[in-house]
Amino acid sequence: MDNRAITLLGLHALLLLLPSSHASETCSALVDNSEASFAKELLSSIHEPETVAWLKSVRRRIHEHPELCFEEFETSQLIRDELQKLGIPYKWPFATTGIVATIGSGKGPVVALRADMDALPLDELVDFEYKSKHPGKMHACGHDMHVSMLLGAAKLLKEREEKLQGTVKLLFQPAEEGGGGALRAMEDGALEDVEAIFGLHVYPLVPTGSISSRSGAFCAAAGSFKAVIKGKGGHAAVPHLTADPVVATSMIIVSLQQLISRETDPLESQVVSVTSVHGGKVFNIIPQDVTMQGTYRTLAQDNGEKLKRRVKEVIENQASVLGCKAAVEFGTVAYPALYNDDKMYEHIKTVGSLMLGQDHVLDTDPSMGGEDFSFYTGKIPGAMLNIGVAHEDASKNFMLHSPHFNPNEDVLPLGAALNAALAEMYIQSAYLGVSTKLSSTQ
Ligand SMILES: [Zn+2]
Ligand SMILES: [Zn+2]
Repeated sequence: MDNRAITLLGLHALLLLLPSSHASETCSALVDNSEASFAKELLSSIHEPETVAWLKSVRRRIHEHPELCFEEFETSQLIRDELQKLGIPYKWPFATTGIVATIGSGKGPVVALRADMDALPLDELVDFEYKSKHPGKMHACGHDMHVSMLLGAAKLLKEREEKLQGTVKLLFQPAEEGGGGALRAMEDGALEDVEAIFGLHVYPLVPTGSISSRSGAFCAAAGSFKAVIKGKGGHAAVPHLTADPVVATSMIIVSLQQLISRETDPLESQVVSVTSVHGGKVFNIIPQDVTMQGTYRTLAQDNGEKLKRRVKEVIENQASVLGCKAAVEFGTVAYPALYNDDKMYEHIKTVGSLMLGQDHVLDTDPSMGGEDFSFYTGKIPGAMLNIGVAHEDASKNFMLHSPHFNPNEDVLPLGAALNAALAEMYIQSAYLGVSTKLSSTQ
């Protein structure tokens, strides 16, 4: 892409965000502000060999010491140490281990970038020098990559701090994997004064060097359930003298699937999965009870309230058909569906085109995965994107949450630069007139 094309793209980005009355008066200022050199500066600074080595070392140190939901104490310490070395002020704790670092003028517009920090309860099976040193824990969702990229953005933005006509808040958030760390961080004031937020997630189905995103539905609302089916145990040879919770559970599992096939509009996306069933010990005893767990997910705007109600009704009523009783519990934190804001998505698309070239900004379908970033977008405009981490050698590519997950580390500088550009260009656009909410009040 030549410089002129890049400048025009950048201009397009800002014009998209501006009310039309502001467009002509800001044109000349925008053209003068060469975004071609802006992108080049960011990319060349972050690609310095020393910086690339630092990004990798941060990722690898975190990868070797994975920590689960709300236990990210060493990770949090590592981040604070690096922020201190970069001379960046921060506040903590938010939601036990979270950190909010601040770069810029201290005035509005204020934009946030988010990285999650937690790992998964999983044994790593990647043969890798920096493999997890803690059995049963692994960074299998790439949150170690997210932290490294956000620290990289911190470095870039700090170097450009005098140019920032607003403030960037870097939110290092705990407990994305089921703990709802985003909600807790927000309750602790992590988003105070923030008017927009961006987040990225590594994604192994997108090639390294590309990103993907979409406007509107991006991730599903997701909740979990657990049920204990109580029956009456006895000898397997006399089932008529028992109330068999094994058969009741089997029928519950089948009936739950009919919530999707018979009660859901075929054009809507919903999922119910039963993922764990435990009951009985031997072949000749019908057990007293069976415990089952599962998840329900939907892209519907009601965040799964109807589905949740029906899951409970089906489990309880189907259990009673077999003379059993069911006690149903739902997980304490259900994630709302994540909807990317239209304008924030356009911003991602334009910044992505500037940094990577238009051909590397891909569309994506919504995912039925959950993402607690949705708590932020429920409050302020925001959007997420997938950043590609696929290797050219397809045999190395495994999905998120796989014990073989092995993202391409070469993406770290790009992720850092993209984060920084999303924030700086948002501020630039907002400063020029789109969002004056904070600038006019300070
Ligand atoms: Zn995950
Ligand atoms: Zn994740």
